[in-house]
Amino acid sequence: MATVRKLVAGNWKMNGLSDQIVEAVKVAESLAQTPAGVRVAICPPNILVHRIAERLARTVVEVGAQDLHCEAAGAFTGDTSGEMLRDAGARLVIIGHSERRSHHREDDAAVSAKVGAALRAGLEPIVCVGESLEERRSGQALQVVESQLAGSLPDSLDGRSFVIAYEPVWAIGTGLTPTLAEIEEVHRAIRRVLVARFSNGAARPILYGGSVKASNAAEILNAAEVGGALVGGASLKATDFLPIVRAGG
Ligand code: PEP
Repeated sequence: MATVRKLVAGNWKMNGLSDQIVEAVKVAESLAQTPAGVRVAICPPNILVHRIAERLARTVVEVGAQDLHCEAAGAFTGDTSGEMLRDAGARLVIIGHSERRSHHREDDAAVSAKVGAALRAGLEPIVCVGESLEERRSGQALQVVESQLAGSLPDSLDGRSFVIAYEPVWAIGTGLTPTLAEIEEVHRAIRRVLVARFSNGAARPILYGGSVKASNAAEILNAAEVGGALVGGASLKATDFLPIVRAGG
């Protein structure tokens, strides 16, 4: 596999008012002094993207968004397009997170359309997949993830920059994590799908997400085929997030 820098991305979810911006600034300032050798991104709520992107301009920390509408513009009250997010300073966007799939009933077709929209807008999609606890317990984890990939990744991704995040639903925000062997098994399966479908499939990063914290980051980030981490709760404070970033370096 071609060598690519690991990506550690923070997903702030629907957390953070203006006073949270300082945490992103602290991450950038700290990494300026001690380069981590890792690609780092922070994905705040979309309302903060512009202000954080301005503060992080000319730093090593990239700004990502959370979700987008599949159209560029139009009569879609309350929605935000990829073009708007890009204009606001986002470079990446999280798509198909399990919280979107469950709370907003987004299916694979909707995710695929949003991935296409991200590419159209010049955003790098971080496409999330992952099985529920019931699916894992019934031995269907690989089948579920492969099916989500088949439906969520449009052919237009070929040759483009994109990221996959494997996030078992039962590990998100719970403190539970799969074993390293389970993580590696799913990541290898995802790699097989990417290599079979995309000319650059061997080189695209596959992140692990689900209760990553300072104490487990190093072993997860060093596991086979793990190209980085998508970090939720532990990305909200610079003091929690920075050790995870450094564990990937
Ligand atoms: C997430 O929501 O993408 C996530 C991985 O959350 P947490 O790290 O809090 O489990």
